[in-house]
Amino acid sequence: MSYPILLTPGPLTTSRRTKEAMLSDWGSWDASFNDVTASVCKDIVDIVNGQGTHVCVPMQGSGTFSVEAALGTLVPKTGKVLVPANGAYCQRIARILLYLNREAVILEHGEDEPANPDRIEAALKADPSITHVAVVHCETSAGILNPLHDIALVVARYHRRLIVDAMSSFAAIPIDLATTPIDALIAASGKCLEGVPGMGFVVVRQEVLESSSGQAHSLALDLHDQWAYMLKTGQWRYTPPTHVVAALRAALDQYHEEGGIAARSARYQKNCAALVAGMRTLGLRTYLSDDVQAPIIVTFHSPDHPNFQFVKLYEGVKAQGFILYPGKLTKIETFRVGCIGAIDTQHIFKAVEATERTLRDLGVLS
Ligand SMILES: *Cc1c(COP(=O)(O)O)cnc(C)c1O
Repeated sequence: MSYPILLTPGPLTTSRRTKEAMLSDWGSWDASFNDVTASVCKDIVDIVNGQGTHVCVPMQGSGTFSVEAALGTLVPKTGKVLVPANGAYCQRIARILLYLNREAVILEHGEDEPANPDRIEAALKADPSITHVAVVHCETSAGILNPLHDIALVVARYHRRLIVDAMSSFAAIPIDLATTPIDALIAASGKCLEGVPGMGFVVVRQEVLESSSGQAHSLALDLHDQWAYMLKTGQWRYTPPTHVVAALRAALDQYHEEGGIAARSARYQKNCAALVAGMRTLGLRTYLSDDVQAPIIVTFHSPDHPNFQFVKLYEGVKAQGFILYPGKLTKIETFRVGCIGAIDTQHIFKAVEATERTLRDLGVLS
């Protein structure tokens, strides 16, 4: 193997073709580059069935820049946001709202517990001043799947706006904007679309975006201004991440050739099942129960053995070509292994073997 396989929550392993798409330089004024941007945005809207209701606004930066752009642009300064929280990315939304001076109500859940639509309903009923709900679809910190469709129906029934961080689920888990009412869906190039990192995007209900002019707290992260400028000129407002956009175009072509959402989600589910089964044969235990595990990233309990240290496992597995990820839970020792990116079960089998070899070398397995 000439390059490492990333079993992480992003950036992810990309195909050679996606990497090769970055070998040309593009002028930001050039019509052919603007055509690439437009086609990328069109495909992104189509993937979640938002044609005719939603538009895609791309944004420079990592995924968090787009989360901050969406919250800052779409939530008015007088708004109040309910955040069902079961992990670090939910906490990041809460933290962004604090920076933005937008009022937030945090609905705490356990990190192994999906966001509960009944509790969300009770919170909305109890507080009519809540204007928005902001949820994370797949909470990548533990790898839990939140019940987006049921949450969206509750939020719509109470006539509040819904903003969704779908960073690690977009293009991996089906989302249908025609049947699941969502005002804004946020994701990024370097996750399950299997592009390289460097841009995010917000798929936003056009009428909601149109009514948000002048609300943003920040010039660079003003989603409305970015959209209005692009509508008028076809260009990005400020220097675009040209190579990232070109790579994303190539990654989208491969997404379609693979068979779209059905094929990609099936591949990730197979990866996840192979990973969980393989690690369990080594005696490793998953943190989440199988019914709430998203096929994105799996959290494992660290083995309860005096010789176990995550950095040693990391180094041993890395020497065999695979990059693991530390845990992100507040209370217990865990580590994480991703199932997403341009990888299949062959890579997963090899990664499990590499884990086994390393744990034996460390004396954790006999
Ligand atoms: C990756 C991710 C983000 C964005 O993180 P960045 O480091 O800014 O790219 C946000 N939310 C979730 C759920 C994620 O998985």
